[in-house]
Amino acid sequence: MTEYVYGKLDGLGETIGAYSVMTMEVPWGLVKGRIGGKPKSVEMVSGLEHDYLDRLVNTLPAVDTIVGVGGGVATDAAKYFAWRRKCDLVLCPTIVSVNAYATPAAAVREPDGRVNYMGQVSPSKVVVDYRAIQAAPKRLNTAGTGDIYSCRTALFDWKLAHEKTGESYDEQIAAGSQRILDRLVANAKEVKNVTEAGIKTLVELHIETNRLQVLAGKPRPEEGSEHVFFYKLEEFTGRSFVHGDVVGTGIFVSTHFQSREEDDAASTMDSMGLMFRPRDYGITHEEFVETVVGMKRYARDKNLAFSILDTVEISSNDAESLWHKLSQ
Ligand SMILES: [Zn+2]
Repeated sequence: MTEYVYGKLDGLGETIGAYSVMTMEVPWGLVKGRIGGKPKSVEMVSGLEHDYLDRLVNTLPAVDTIVGVGGGVATDAAKYFAWRRKCDLVLCPTIVSVNAYATPAAAVREPDGRVNYMGQVSPSKVVVDYRAIQAAPKRLNTAGTGDIYSCRTALFDWKLAHEKTGESYDEQIAAGSQRILDRLVANAKEVKNVTEAGIKTLVELHIETNRLQVLAGKPRPEEGSEHVFFYKLEEFTGRSFVHGDVVGTGIFVSTHFQSREEDDAASTMDSMGLMFRPRDYGITHEEFVETVVGMKRYARDKNLAFSILDTVEISSNDAESLWHKLSQ
């Protein structure tokens, strides 16, 4: 069982035996004077390439505990290391834009560019250090709402798939997903301002969405057609983006086709400070239109789960009018 500690990581290093740290310059600068003890090594993680991570596993000193301090990359590198070395894992997320600290597998990049999810580890402890998290730009933390608010469109798709294809659907899990949404929206202001209560809300809801996905045995409670926008955009542009921001655009687009309630979704996302408009993360009009028009085809080619995309036609006129709304 993972113990979650909310507050500060001061003195942590004195309680975990011999330890190494996987981190990056900025997050390490925020905690190195407070973590305590003396790490056997501090590795500035440069990426998640498989051969690079294997080199770290083979060359770093023997330790009782590996501590991951930072965002998704430091976290995934520490998870991979703990899994391969079978040592204890402690995570200190310093931004909550992604939920890597709450999921069991490590994202590893293969030579062909594909991301592989490897291993099965759970940290003995996750330390949520408010000071470090609040030192990051607010929008990096509010991006963490993307993979929670996506329950809205994901739930719609799951129910639709159940009705149209007979796919299994679990009322209780779906109700849990709805409770996640309700709690997120109720705490929108705290989340937007990245207060301690807002950070705690994001962390607890990341844990809960992951728990429901494990329980369901599939991503359905949190992931649906909104993610197709993200996958298609990254494939089409060859660039990477902050995941939650782009998932937010996907929520806007999918909600339009699901229920025409995209204005309501937009005002909720604004209330949480999610930067979901294309201008917020810099994609062009053409990139947006191509992505929206290409979503249906992408989902079919990749054999993705049934969703609203299987039941609608998407024209360039649709994409143009969504662009127009998002540009106001
Ligand atoms: Zn996601």
